Amino acid sequence: MSQREWIEKDFYKELGVSSNASADEIKKAYRKLARDLHPDANPGDTKAEERFKSVSEAHAVLSDPAKRKEYDEARRLFASGGFGQGGGGFNPGAGGFGQGGFDINDLFGGGGAAAGDGGLGDIFGGLFNRGAGGGGGGATRTTNRPRRGSDVETETTLEFREATLGVTVPLRLTSPSPCTTCHGSGAKPGTSPRVCPRCNGTGIVSRNQGAFGFSEPCDDCRGTGSIIDSPCEVCHGNGVTNRTRTITVRVPAGVSDGQKIRLAGQGEAGLRGAPSGDLFVTVRVRPDKVFGRNGDDLTLVVPVSYGELVLGTTVSVPTLEGRVGVKIPAGTADGRILRVRGRGVPKRAGGAGDLLVTVKVAVPQKLDDPATEALKTYLEAEKASGFDPRAGWAGA
Ligand code: ZN
Ligand code: ZN
Repeated sequence: MSQREWIEKDFYKELGVSSNASADEIKKAYRKLARDLHPDANPGDTKAEERFKSVSEAHAVLSDPAKRKEYDEARRLFASGGFGQGGGGFNPGAGGFGQGGFDINDLFGGGGAAAGDGGLGDIFGGLFNRGAGGGGGGATRTTNRPRRGSDVETETTLEFREATLGVTVPLRLTSPSPCTTCHGSGAKPGTSPRVCPRCNGTGIVSRNQGAFGFSEPCDDCRGTGSIIDSPCEVCHGNGVTNRTRTITVRVPAGVSDGQKIRLAGQGEAGLRGAPSGDLFVTVRVRPDKVFGRNGDDLTLVVPVSYGELVLGTTVSVPTLEGRVGVKIPAGTADGRILRVRGRGVPKRAGGAGDLLVTVKVAVPQKLDDPATEALKTYLEAEKASGFDPRAGWAGA
């Protein structure tokens, strides 16, 4: 079925009843139409046969309270902001109703839109997210094309080690979803929205000014096409409330502060069978007391004594997952960076960066007498051996 071939499905219109018709009125209307249009009464009349099918479809939905409720809700969803206008014209998708089943997904599953047929849809489509039929009749064709759900952004703060090693965190997300009290209709339970009498449900009124005709959104219904007399107390007639959900997110190893993680399909639900939006999580990483980070390399400062640098030693330093011995060669200068391969931040492609250990001499603030004496003796011996710390210094 091509986009232009889809049939408008206003079941109330099909039966010639109002959208708040009682079950009795629907039954009566259907019986009369079924009698008039029955193929036995109209042999060879294909138009009557088509109408008979449509009327039967309409009756199948509207005569079942549960199905009618679903249908009304779907209409209301389309009519409410962002879902497009629901004056009629649902595309059930290929075979949707023909198989006898009625599923709200059939309503959402239809493809295609009539915007552009009338021109008006192109003009107002961006403003009201809907298309308007270009002809008379008052019924509006909807832009009920599937619409991908919105992307959602959120933020999470991780400890340094969680971020570098990877972690699974629960995320609480709040996003708009149909109000559960009124099922998105915006009307107080037990009541339903009525078609706006001023614009006949199109949401658009025409105004003539001189030689020009203007179309503008209907003031009475604010362009929605329907009027809610008793708004739902929970959502105040919006049909939408904020829903909080918790999802578990696996944060890969090696994320850094400020990085955005994309979780495909975890954003807002799509409309009419369209895919969900994505969730973008901005990661904040708390600094660590021991480690720093430079890309995939982990940095660490290890305090050493002057003697350790002169004679050389092996010091035990922490890694992300344990400890490692780092050999300091004899004669190592203060501030030198020693590289321990593969003990840094895990890389997405496998392997890991390096651990960069900076040696920093810790100078004793106080020495006892034997140590002071020994140091004096040492300095004299050092001088005698010919060591001059300022030899070759530009400031000498
Ligand atoms: Zn509500
Ligand atoms: Zn109106």
